Parts: sequence; structure tokens; C-alpha cells
Amino acid sequence: MSLITNRSVLARYVVCQCGKRGYEQKQFAKAARQSLGGHGLHVYRCPVSGAWHVGHQRTGITRDYYRQRAA
Ligand SMILES: [Zn+2]
Repeated sequence: MSLITNRSVLARYVVCQCGKRGYEQKQFAKAARQSLGGHGLHVYRCPVSGAWHVGHQRTGITRDYYRQRAA
């Protein structure tokens, strides 16, 4: 697995262009989601900057969304 701890993962966020907390890599966002509780939270890619966000599914931009686009 990763040597990255939850603490260091949480320190890796950047302030996204959209104003939310963003992560440069998906694995960081997923680790952060776990530390936040995980349930009901989605990891999704920001349509503005391409950073990864953790949050509720408000924008409709999810992994499924990209999967459907790629299909
Ligand atoms: Zn964003």
C-alpha cells in the first residue's frame, strides 16, 4: 500500500480554482474521504481545474459520468 498517512494526505490539498479543497491525485482524495468517514462522499474530478474533490454528489460529475462519456 502507500506510505502516505492520512495526516499527510490531508496536508496535500490545494485550494482549487473553484474555491473548494482539491487534491492533485485521486489516491489522495480517496484517502481523505476515508479519513472524513467515507460514507456518502464521492471522489470526483473538478471540471474547472482537473483536481480531485471529495464531497457530496452535487455537481453530477462523478466517476460514472466520465465512464459514460468514455463509452
Ligand atoms: Zn474544483
